[in-house]
Amino acid sequence: MSHFVVIGGGIAGLTAANALATAGSVTLLERSHELGGRARTINANGYLLNLGPHALTKNGITAQTFHEWGIQISGGDPAERGEGKRSVIMRDGVLYPAANNFTSLIKSRMFSLREKLELAKLLSFTKHEDVGKSESVNEWLSRSVRSERVRQYVRMGLRTATYGLEFDHLAARDALRQLALTMKPGVLYIDGGWQVLVDGLTRRAGSLGVEFRTGVSVERLSEVQADGIVIATDRHNAQRLSGTEFPPAIPAYAACLDLCLRKLPQCAPTVAFAVDRPLYYSVHSAAAKLAPKGHALVHVMKYLSDIPDDSQSVRRELEEYLDIVMPGWRDSLVKDRFLPHIMVSAAVPTTSANPAKSSDIDRVAFAGEWVTSRGLLADAAVSSALEAARSVIQPESVDTCSGAVTWELR
Ligand SMILES: Cc1cc2nc3c(=O)[nH]c(=O)nc-3n(C[C@H](O)[C@H](O)[C@H](O)COP(=O)(O)OP(=O)(O)OC[C@H]3O[C@@H](n4cnc5c(N)ncnc54)[C@H](O)[C@@H]3O)c2cc1C
Repeated sequence: MSHFVVIGGGIAGLTAANALATAGSVTLLERSHELGGRARTINANGYLLNLGPHALTKNGITAQTFHEWGIQISGGDPAERGEGKRSVIMRDGVLYPAANNFTSLIKSRMFSLREKLELAKLLSFTKHEDVGKSESVNEWLSRSVRSERVRQYVRMGLRTATYGLEFDHLAARDALRQLALTMKPGVLYIDGGWQVLVDGLTRRAGSLGVEFRTGVSVERLSEVQADGIVIATDRHNAQRLSGTEFPPAIPAYAACLDLCLRKLPQCAPTVAFAVDRPLYYSVHSAAAKLAPKGHALVHVMKYLSDIPDDSQSVRRELEEYLDIVMPGWRDSLVKDRFLPHIMVSAAVPTTSANPAKSSDIDRVAFAGEWVTSRGLLADAAVSSALEAARSVIQPESVDTCSGAVTWELR
């Protein structure tokens, strides 16, 4: 029987372990003492905190794979659920009702009539099939949208969907596809947090016989003996372990302020985005079970293209944003957690050569959110993991007594 090793126990590694377990025995090695990577959730007295705001695309490959594997997920769509649901947009420090459908757009005070017509036209052609493969968001916007205020609004939507900020390089086609996916059928905030995904994958893999070894950091590929290896670490470690030089990529970071509140201040909106600044706010507990009854869990975030020099000023900026969006929040604060910079993606989709990497080493494959294959973020992690598992399974070695090999670095 073939033996496979998966290095890294985030969503990608756990998915790969599940997929490989049907073809042989599997050992998963994880550096940290816990599985889950960036999909972990901590429980702070009944408040369930993901590492910053996390939303799962309802129709992406992650949800589809979980459904196929019988792993239950429940939750709510922030655009549909939530008591007194109210979405607002901030521009120049002023809050406006969000204009994300035709009715709200017609009523909006944010745009002139000409701008409304332009935005309505964009909303009605959501597929944007004319977008060139190597066209950046800014190139596409400058040829398709006349009003700078409408461009700004569209950039806000694309930033929210992709976490990308470098609009001169962000691929318009991928970004628009992701935006369409997050708007319809939409996204899910998950009851119990993303730990539910981690636990579901871990349980299923365990029932298929996968061996988990946590607290094991793989330093060299030659330490590992297997018939096939999936490297599901972060991009940096994948380069180091495989000795492969990856092409340059554009990462996306975030600074997150996660808030546990005794109650939501009156009139607090459920969702708020800033159009002229890369700021995000959402009451995740309004759509999913993430806080004790009557209490609230709120994620506030600043999108970053790099690690900030002064993280305290970023924290102040987030608090000032909260003062505008949700005045009185300090009176209800039970606990907060500030993550000054966390990597969301090591490689956002760009117009230059696809940074996706397949390994040059026989029967070694990469998986992770940075190995773009189908979808972005967690969907990229899951789709690349399924592909990596397929590529290291050698049909002829299944159910044979092939001797394990030691991988030599090139
Ligand atoms: C603030 C924030 C918001 C996000 N929002 C969303 C969202 O709304 N929607 C969405 O789909 N995604 C979102 N994401 C992204 C999502 O969390 C990731 O795409 C996904 O969790 C990545 O999984 P992964 O397995 O590829 O990587 P990771 O979770 O990083 O897992 C890699 C694992 O490899 C281990 N490892 C590294 N080196 C070694 C080694 N040498 N030996 C052994 N183990 C090693 C690490 O410890 C880690 O556990 C967000 C991420 C962040 C940070």
